[in-house]
Amino acid sequence: EQPIIAKREVTRYILKRFGLHMNKKLGQNFLVDEDVVHGVVDAAEINENDVVLEIGPGIGTLTQGLLEAGAEVFAVELDKRLPPILEHTLEGYDKLHIINADILKTDIKALIGDRPFKVAANLPYYITTPIIMYLLEAKLPITGLVTMVQKEVAERMTAIPGNKIYGALSVAVQYYSHPQICFDVAPQSFMPKPEVVSSVILCKVYDERPIKPIDEKMFFRVVKASFGQRRKTLSNSLGNLGVAKEIIKEVLEESAIDGKRRGETLSLQEFAVLADNFSKKQF
Ligand code: SAM
Repeated sequence: EQPIIAKREVTRYILKRFGLHMNKKLGQNFLVDEDVVHGVVDAAEINENDVVLEIGPGIGTLTQGLLEAGAEVFAVELDKRLPPILEHTLEGYDKLHIINADILKTDIKALIGDRPFKVAANLPYYITTPIIMYLLEAKLPITGLVTMVQKEVAERMTAIPGNKIYGALSVAVQYYSHPQICFDVAPQSFMPKPEVVSSVILCKVYDERPIKPIDEKMFFRVVKASFGQRRKTLSNSLGNLGVAKEIIKEVLEESAIDGKRRGETLSLQEFAVLADNFSKKQF
């Protein structure tokens, strides 16, 4: 029987016993709140049939929750000091694989195979967005992604058209998945305390994406251009595509989208219509 790691005194004991000093550069804030661990496990509906890729297990706090729920866990941790500690803190759990690597340099397919899997992570905030985008774009058989992010980032990911924080990140996340904010997590739930409030976000990855542009690259080019300069009209910001003004005008007309609108008012569907009409121009 292992003690519950998600407790302040247990975490403190582990740090002391292994002489571990947290590395700020690697964004090491460990969870010390059992309710949050259960909340994450429940939100992602983790059960004994699940395969979970955990990114950045730290000393195994969330990992333990995932294992207790019966999942098979692949825990990828960058800090080479941590795997030997995890061998101790999670000793006895036989569905655990510990991998010492940078997730961005890991061949996930070689690790997990073709099985569908879920992703769970409490990552350093500076790298969360790139990692989430990398995983979504890699077109792996991910069914769901549950992660702790800065509250403000969670709000951007789930923002809808017209909201002033709706942007390229919202579109990208919502293109691949249905994101929802599960609950907020106070700084006191971590050791040491971060400066910001966090949110747990669940992205249910689409089996079949509702938006199907002819050319995905064009879709994202149009999105990027449209959000390139806020407060500019669509006809102006689409100029960033490097296309002749006439073509932009034609495409907007064919798409029945008013060029005086701003990029942040367009739905994913509208971006797809625009992108498809640009694709047909073959510039
Ligand atoms: N999951 C643990 C918890 O909730 O207590 C630890 C969370 S801590 C915020 C982030 C962890 O991610 C650290 O252990 C850090 O070393 C690890 N990490 C940072 N960058 C990483 C990367 N590129 N690949 C894998 N792990 C990484």
